[in-house]
Amino acid sequence: MGGRKGKPGGGFCRLGPAPLREINEGKERYESQRRCQSLPEMRASLGSITSRVLAAIANWGGVSLLRSRFLVEPRACMCMTKGLMECILGGMTDLSSSIYQTLLALLALPSTPGHEEQVRAYLARRLEGLGLATQTDSAGNLIALLPGEGRPLLLNAHMDRVPPGLAHTPVLRDGVFYSDGTTNLGADDAAGLAIVLEIVTRVMEQRLPHPPLLLVFTVEEEVGLRGASAFDPTPWNVSEGIVFDNAFEAGVVVSQGAMYVAFDVEIRGRTGHPGKDLAQTINALEIFRAARYPHGSLHNDRTRILLGRLTAGSARNAVPDRVQIEGELRSFEPPAVREELMGELQRAFEEAARQFGGSAQVTFNPHCTSYSVDENEPLLMRYREVLARRGEPLRLRPTFIGSDAAAFRPRIQAFTISTGVANEHSFEEYVPLHPLEMIVNDVLMVLKLHHAH
Ligand SMILES: [Zn+2]
Repeated sequence: MGGRKGKPGGGFCRLGPAPLREINEGKERYESQRRCQSLPEMRASLGSITSRVLAAIANWGGVSLLRSRFLVEPRACMCMTKGLMECILGGMTDLSSSIYQTLLALLALPSTPGHEEQVRAYLARRLEGLGLATQTDSAGNLIALLPGEGRPLLLNAHMDRVPPGLAHTPVLRDGVFYSDGTTNLGADDAAGLAIVLEIVTRVMEQRLPHPPLLLVFTVEEEVGLRGASAFDPTPWNVSEGIVFDNAFEAGVVVSQGAMYVAFDVEIRGRTGHPGKDLAQTINALEIFRAARYPHGSLHNDRTRILLGRLTAGSARNAVPDRVQIEGELRSFEPPAVREELMGELQRAFEEAARQFGGSAQVTFNPHCTSYSVDENEPLLMRYREVLARRGEPLRLRPTFIGSDAAAFRPRIQAFTISTGVANEHSFEEYVPLHPLEMIVNDVLMVLKLHHAH
């Protein structure tokens, strides 16, 4: 959501060699970067240092928490400026280390709607490495089941990203991942994918109590929740679930999702030379200008209509005979209101076209309907209980942002837990890392409570 443009400031570390462009930005920044090491360098130096420290601790009397994976996995802390002790302590935060590594690995893979194959292959490899069988449904969603006791739970995140969705190595600054400037960060929804992988990994490795977990990693969320809409829950007998996606600050639950309708308008006129007889032409842009269509924030901001893209004409010196508009309608209002607005849009363009002797065609493509989460849904009550145990209230907020939860409901009572990704769908996208770890811990506790009921 908007209004969160501010970014944490402070020091600066980069995972890998700093490009010249940034080195030239200032001496102080350069000095800070210079002290950072590349990922392979850090792996090597921290691997050996941490191994020696952990071996010494183990010799003192066995710290069961220190498992062998500490010694082989690259450490989360990449910056020497913060001191060796912090690096070693950072390495002891097992969860942050592995979720961090997963996120890095995912961001190093490209993904766009319909081209999620590399992310899918990575997730399948990780799940198969845990001993889980995976399958891909006809839509391209990756599905895996971890058997357990009790009512099954669906855990979901989406594999696609808005374009360009390029592979890159993010910039780490004060515990926050930023894009390297060449692409959107991709934490929407790689952060959700990393959370789900971390949950299932910890459940299995630590033998934590859990219900059957159905992992559904969806395709094409960004272009109309296509993967989630195509997913068939029937064979899995699953009726509850959690979606991990961006909407608000980390941990906030989406209480209400808006319905979403994409629409296209095609206006046709007749072209001609602007210096000749204009009576022979029909200016399609004039038709557009004359159309009195509903737009902007309506119904006390419960509805928003946007024309996001408009293309017209063929040359500077030709009367435009064609206008193409890509628009969208988001609303919390009931279906009747949506129908009314769709009718108004259609009539506005058709009427204007008639006045000028041209034509207009309006087509609608509904992506999802609006939904509300009942605060008394059992799974949500468990999440509230978990938060209450650490003194946090359950934060519920409505959003215009779509998510797979809208497509899963009403068949599956799924709600979205926000991952805390901000400025999504832009190169300014960023994600604070620590809250991801908090979400994993909270959901592990939810699984325990759910299993006990
Ligand atoms: Zn998303």
